[in-house]
Amino acid sequence: TRKFFVGGNWKMNGDKKSLGELIQTMNGAKVDPNVEVVCGAPTIYLDFVRSKLDAKFGVAAQNCYKVPKGAFTGEISPAMIKDCGVNWVILGHSERRHVFGESDELIGQKTAHALENGLGVIACIGEKLDEREGGITEKVVFAQTKVIADNVKDWSKVVLAYEPVWAIGTGKTASPQQSLLRTHHNVCIKFMYSYFIIFLYFLLMNLFFVSGSVTGGTCKELASQKDVDGFLVGGASLKPEFIEIMNAKA
Ligand code: 13P
Repeated sequence: TRKFFVGGNWKMNGDKKSLGELIQTMNGAKVDPNVEVVCGAPTIYLDFVRSKLDAKFGVAAQNCYKVPKGAFTGEISPAMIKDCGVNWVILGHSERRHVFGESDELIGQKTAHALENGLGVIACIGEKLDEREGGITEKVVFAQTKVIADNVKDWSKVVLAYEPVWAIGTGKTASPQQSLLRTHHNVCIKFMYSYFIIFLYFLLMNLFFVSGSVTGGTCKELASQKDVDGFLVGGASLKPEFIEIMNAKA
């Protein structure tokens, strides 16, 4: 089984000064060696962050495009990300989906291209509040997951982050009992019918992890749930409490 995985998603926050201070705190912290920690840095700071952050921590880009190069103003390629010494990319984040209008299909293409070029992919899935209230959570999450799964050959380089949109930045974390596990299991049951092999991967590799408003205060209880094998942390990953979250399993 994989290591417990803690991703930080800094989104469009910080500057060299504040990120430099956070990095110093992280570099000096004692971190559980059984946990894999990866920080999603703003594109323009990827080089800066990779050069300052201790090698025990991974770095991720927060997006990339689906082709190697060309006339795509404002985009970056997996090769460029790797050229900065960075080995991960976050794809399909709900802000990419809903603020920037990225489709399931585009996220699938990006996933394939990133993996082909040797990046690890933190692939995000999750329903919006109106979708949950409309009773279509599993349908939405299944469709998102299927397009990603269709584009993955080697699951060892993929982590799936279940990040319901209503839990992001709201202080509401998907409680494992009420929603994460139910969604997880219902999605898995659908996979069992139509996607048996992938279901086995899910089962064997514990791909799911939880996200949305994870904090130092909630991380230990969440980490102790058997189907939770990591976090993707937004706001709290910019604060010293991120160290606590990294050590939630310790
Ligand atoms: P918050 O932890 O700030 O809710 O953000 C979650 C998130 O979007 C991580 O990608």
